[in-house]
Amino acid sequence: MDFQPIASLLQESMEGKKARIRGWIYRTRSSGGVAFVVLRDSTAILQCAVKKSQVPEKQFADAEKALLESAVEVEGIIKKDGRAPGGFEVQATSFRVKQFAQVFPISRDQSPEFLLDVRHLWIRSRELTAAAKVKATVLEAARAFFKSRGYWETTPPLIVSGACEGGSTLFDFNYFGKKAFLSQSAQLYLEALIYSLEKVYAITPSFRAEKSRTVRHLAEYWHIEGEEAYMDFEGLLKFEEELIAFICHQVAKERAEELKRLGRDPSDLLKIKPPFKRLKYEEAVSLLQKKGSSVQFGDDFGAEDEKLLTEHETQPLFVTHFPKKIKAFYMKQDLENPELVFGNDCLAPEGYGEIIGGSQREDDLKEIERRLKEQGSDPKDYEWYLDLRRFGSVPHSGFGLGAERLVRWICKLEHIRDATPFPRVINRSYP
Ligand code: ATP
Ligand code: MG
Repeated sequence: MDFQPIASLLQESMEGKKARIRGWIYRTRSSGGVAFVVLRDSTAILQCAVKKSQVPEKQFADAEKALLESAVEVEGIIKKDGRAPGGFEVQATSFRVKQFAQVFPISRDQSPEFLLDVRHLWIRSRELTAAAKVKATVLEAARAFFKSRGYWETTPPLIVSGACEGGSTLFDFNYFGKKAFLSQSAQLYLEALIYSLEKVYAITPSFRAEKSRTVRHLAEYWHIEGEEAYMDFEGLLKFEEELIAFICHQVAKERAEELKRLGRDPSDLLKIKPPFKRLKYEEAVSLLQKKGSSVQFGDDFGAEDEKLLTEHETQPLFVTHFPKKIKAFYMKQDLENPELVFGNDCLAPEGYGEIIGGSQREDDLKEIERRLKEQGSDPKDYEWYLDLRRFGSVPHSGFGLGAERLVRWICKLEHIRDATPFPRVINRSYP
């Protein structure tokens, strides 16, 4: 008989059937000749009642002795039991310890810093496991959505020679004697790829040397980026809202258990529905001022502003038409008001804030050269990128979605670090 996933045993029809499971000890106690050992595998937890009278003497002694996180294999009969977690229990006929764990360093009420030091062990927790499964489904759903829209998955480089999102958050390193950088975004490379593939996306790490501690910045995060030839700003906003809604629905359908464990009602996600509310930057500024923010026209929104804008929302919200001064050189100018650009942020509701940055890209060579000079850059440093405007330039748009930002909102995580197994933040690259 093969080992069975624990989750497959937790149902009425299994009552009285034989079970063979393996996993790690999640909880354990013994009383009056019975050891109650709760086992955890990747699917669920299940209590095993190991009775002195039902198993060989040595196995009972092992069951009493084995500490948390010991690796064990159990055979027995499944019984309904209202007192057991999940409502079922295995009455063991065999209890084998594959490895006796040492004293597990993690117990209740430990400091966040300590838990980060032992992150390689803490990722076994049920909350981090649930968030990891949600993330896997988010990535799977994103790929499915792109595929349904005829996009090609591509593999842009992570070692690059120039900045995309501004020099202050660039990591540099020695690349065969020359300075090179870790990519902050695949955008410029995706733009190059639309001339052969038209609709492209990439899911890659992006690196940003974020020098302050926040609950929504990592130094290394997974970036879901798409770029489409001929797509205008309106088309871009529609694509973004449909992508977000699709991911939310897939996660609600496939990860309901995990969501509930994390305190998210799956029906919140099923209600996410385009069209999302849109606010022009200017309107957002007046709204913020009414809500007491000191933000002025021309300022970039901080976390507090994004929170003010979204804390009472249940649907994501777009902010559009930003002043060009606060946005990157590649965003296309608004034809009606050249001080503004066709850029958008998509903000998650409930105060979580930005999850997507997107824009229609400037496709005119002269214009983009002018914008580069305006921001103090030398167009010569962007030669290959400018070639894209010399050879068959067409209107196009694209966006970047932070996978961990999305998971943070979906899973209601306080800190973005719990949306990734081994978070990289300022001063931490261990374990
Ligand atoms: P913010 O203003 O919040 O720092 P940004 O304007 O720098 O964001 P973009 O450059 O537009 O963000 O990047 C696209 C997306 O990548 C963001 O909408 C966000 O989801 C994600 N992102 C950006 N920086 C980080 C980071 N340091 N950690 C995790 N996700 C990030
Ligand atoms: Mg930033």
